[in-house]
Amino acid sequence: MTVVALESSTRPVPLACAHCASIHEPVASAVCPECLGPLEPVYRAGRALPSRQEIASRPPSMWRYREWLPFEGLPVHSLDTGFTPLVEAPRLAARLGVARVWIKNDTVSHPSLSFKDRVVASAINAAVGLGLETVACASTGNLAIAVAAHAARAGLPAWVLVPENLEPAKILASAVHGARVLRIQGTYDDVNRLCVQLADRYGWGIVNVNLRPYYGEGSKTVAFEIAEQLGWRFPTAVVAPMAGGSLLSKLHKGFGEIIDAGLATGDRPRLFGAQAAGCAPIVRALEAGESRITPVEPNTIARSLAIGAPADGARALQAIRASGGYAAAVSDPDLIDAIRVLAETSGVFAETAGGVTGAAALALSRAGRFTASDEVVLCITAHGLKTPDAVSPDLFDLPIASSRLSDVARVIESA
Ligand SMILES: *Cc1c(COP(=O)(O)O)cnc(C)c1O
Ligand SMILES: [Zn+2]
Repeated sequence: MTVVALESSTRPVPLACAHCASIHEPVASAVCPECLGPLEPVYRAGRALPSRQEIASRPPSMWRYREWLPFEGLPVHSLDTGFTPLVEAPRLAARLGVARVWIKNDTVSHPSLSFKDRVVASAINAAVGLGLETVACASTGNLAIAVAAHAARAGLPAWVLVPENLEPAKILASAVHGARVLRIQGTYDDVNRLCVQLADRYGWGIVNVNLRPYYGEGSKTVAFEIAEQLGWRFPTAVVAPMAGGSLLSKLHKGFGEIIDAGLATGDRPRLFGAQAAGCAPIVRALEAGESRITPVEPNTIARSLAIGAPADGARALQAIRASGGYAAAVSDPDLIDAIRVLAETSGVFAETAGGVTGAAALALSRAGRFTASDEVVLCITAHGLKTPDAVSPDLFDLPIASSRLSDVARVIESA
């Protein structure tokens, strides 16, 4: 019997240092060995790019934009991720006082119901392409679930490290896939520091640490999908939640690449960042006119966004400023209200990060940041059933009646 090694046709692209421009062979590292600057994937100049028609003929997943993802050859793993619905929400548009609103609905992302599927789909192909045998992550919750799910399908062992106080539903949804879940007594930033050391010690592919150059590119596909789903044009504004600041800065990069490729014309959308007031280092730097981020100690129920020292915070700031957008920080009570506003006006049940995005959109509207002709996309990034305790049943009137018609009629008629 011949044993055929599981072979990958995916080759991660080389990396270049954003500071000193040195080029490096594909490697599991996020920092330049020469100057410690951040490494980024390098795409072959003059590579063949697909037309709108060619893209339209491909399966509905994030890989229909594969020429803008950091691989040569075809991806092998996580082929079903991406191409989530863009749902128009006219009742929310009326609330925001703008012309049109759509929800980019990553609450139904495959396979783990958050936009982290996109970044992990990219990172897992990089891990396999680099020959790494174990994957891991430092997570605020959704990344842990995504790593656990994608690793299970790829047949790779996974370690997910999370802050001890993570929501039970997220711990459970990670463990069920067979990942080793390690709860650390500390904040996300403590977990992240630890993971930098673990990467060196065990040679793991830590998706958001040493695989970060490959990981981050997955977020760009949100921009490509928004433009394609609108008929290859741009909305005027996009509101997105910020944790490490990667999604927001990659939206900016993605919209720029769409213009460069001639897939759409016109202005890039204004980008608006959303954070919880209890962890808003990027919003505070923007408001203060700073270009450096001052780290904070997180204190909010929006745990998926609770990163006090955001790795891509400065880039997110630059993207917001370059696009002509702004940002807002919202209180925990306001984000809980906004979860209900989103559900009641659009039929999308979001987790706390979605509440932050919805509340930020409402606050930006009140602050006069939108005009009546604006066309706004809200990036709603994870499903509400992941944080059910944020919306307490006590908030609702939930009557119980006997099964007699007269009892039921009394409840209905007094409602
Ligand atoms: C991680 C996360 C984000 C933001 O991620 P960045 O680190 O800023 O890219 C947004 N929403 C949810 C639900 C998340 O889990
Ligand atoms: Zn360098």
